[in-house]
Amino acid sequence: MAPDLFDAHAHLREVPKAGAGWIVPGVNAVEDENAPRSERIWRAAGLHPWHLDGLEGELDALTKRAKSEDIVAIGETGLDAMRRAGPRAIQERAFRHQIALAMEHRLPLILHVVRRHGACLKMLREQSFPKDLGGMVHDFGGPAEVISEWIDAGFKLSISPRSVGREDRAVWISRIPEDHLLVESDDFGPERLLDVVRWVAAARNTDMNRVAERTERNARQLFRI
Ligand SMILES: [Zn+2]
Repeated sequence: MAPDLFDAHAHLREVPKAGAGWIVPGVNAVEDENAPRSERIWRAAGLHPWHLDGLEGELDALTKRAKSEDIVAIGETGLDAMRRAGPRAIQERAFRHQIALAMEHRLPLILHVVRRHGACLKMLREQSFPKDLGGMVHDFGGPAEVISEWIDAGFKLSISPRSVGREDRAVWISRIPEDHLLVESDDFGPERLLDVVRWVAAARNTDMNRVAERTERNARQLFRI
């Protein structure tokens, strides 16, 4: 029988039928409002680097959302070097604001980082983001060289369906310390999480139950749920 899985990052449209729990990241004011509710769904408040139109209004709304009692993290936020993301200065403004919010509310960060690992780590250091709050780098896709830097900064690394079947990634997936590993379905649909757990277990030469158990424990510890 397939193990019960905890999904550390899921853009859900509705409450899934089966699963141990889900972290639903913040995207923007409208999407956060429409996120499905359930006792096994925990929500973050955030402004995604692809959704930075009307930035000042969005940041004001986010500041209010972050005060809500049931918010377990800030993000997703971060820096994205690819075409769909906004101008770099705007991304940095949004990221800086969300680092400060996480520190103010003592919450972990959910990061979206595409080819900007060094710049993100530098901004966290500049704002003295505390290691004990930590967070996760969602859909982590390498490079292997930054794994230890993220771990040193207090972050866990989350594997998404984008890494399934990638032999090049299996090499470093096997080297992520067990207490820093998370799994997620991202926007592929929660049913895809089983493929991720199967792939991660194969890469690490272990069984699916162990991956399921450890990743759930890691998520619950990080988000204090
Ligand atoms: Zn996401």
